[in-house]
Amino acid sequence: MSTRKHHLLQKLPVDLLDISLTEWEEFFDHLGFHTDSRQKVYEAVFHRHVSGVDGIPGLSKEERESLARVAVIHSPGRHELSRSRDGSYRLTLVLHDGQLAETVIIPEWTDGRLRKCSASISSQIGCFFGCSFCATGRMGFHRNLSTGELLEQVRRAEEVVRQELNTDLTHLYFMGMGEPMHNYRAVSDALTIMRDPEAPGPPPSRITVSTVGLFRQIRMLASDHPEVRLAVSIHSADQQKRYEIMPVSSKLGLPEIRDALVFHQRQTGSTPTIQYLVMEDVNDRPEDARNLVAYLGNLRAGVTLIMYNDIPEAGLKRSEKEKIDAFQNILKDAGFPVDIRWCHGEDISAGCGQLKVCRSEERVSVSMRHGLHSGCAVTPKPADEQ
Ligand code: SF4
Repeated sequence: MSTRKHHLLQKLPVDLLDISLTEWEEFFDHLGFHTDSRQKVYEAVFHRHVSGVDGIPGLSKEERESLARVAVIHSPGRHELSRSRDGSYRLTLVLHDGQLAETVIIPEWTDGRLRKCSASISSQIGCFFGCSFCATGRMGFHRNLSTGELLEQVRRAEEVVRQELNTDLTHLYFMGMGEPMHNYRAVSDALTIMRDPEAPGPPPSRITVSTVGLFRQIRMLASDHPEVRLAVSIHSADQQKRYEIMPVSSKLGLPEIRDALVFHQRQTGSTPTIQYLVMEDVNDRPEDARNLVAYLGNLRAGVTLIMYNDIPEAGLKRSEKEKIDAFQNILKDAGFPVDIRWCHGEDISAGCGQLKVCRSEERVSVSMRHGLHSGCAVTPKPADEQ
């Protein structure tokens, strides 16, 4: 082992599910592991999902002891599964520190045939950004999920889909609790690991990362993962109104977000999905639709209109159908493909904006909900499919 102490070794033990892929190499350099040994650890952790250093096969006695002195694997524990009347599932994963990560699984049938089965995973416990319409935002921010915890949600969702529906997961959305781009490093590492066919998850072109518009990270995603799709929640093309419903907008100017969207499109050639949560008397007037059209301009984008799930404490309501139809027509007349999405899983609190971890004093009841920068339990159709 090198005599210079690596910064990861300052705070032991190191969680192998939580170090970045860059740090992974540095860490094992410092431990003196050869390439084949570190590859064995990587495969055991990310492909075989071992739950402890002892379970890593193929290491020498010295390597195992040296690793056990400085590293742990903080694997998630059991999960609970709830099924909604509409056929969607809410999977609640109990993490090593007792926190709960929510995943929503949404099968979609056409003419009795299962045509799509998607999972929407959480990227954080709670959220920093406090959007007015979002139950997750009301929790405050607790912590980021590790790369391993992101991947474990995908793996468990795949297991559930196979067991319950005898099919494969077709699409994956980073749209659950939390803002994925605010946990960019872990999300990016999970996307890198998922490129490997041995890792869980659908192909990259069927993965979508959602954001409230963190424009620097949109640019990073375009460069780091051009094959992955992007969804951006706009919710209002008026800066002041957007600020009122999404306080983070004070730091996320609409012009900068649009510039990032243009950059993303140039880099990747893909069509982003613009998500718009329609709320009665907040952002559902024809003028709001015209503002959105003007904002998008000549950007090639699809728009998903998301029907709001009433959250009593937010004092907001779903718009009436006539208003939604009028809103949609303005967008369509301007040439934008529009998809309207209704929430799934409302009876299990997995619908749009409902994802929030609620605990009773005894920590018995778990009422899981979803964040909503992107529509959460909604699975937006990629713009190219609209
Ligand atoms: Fe956070 Fe998204 Fe909810 Fe806003 S909508 S508070 S960014 S989870």
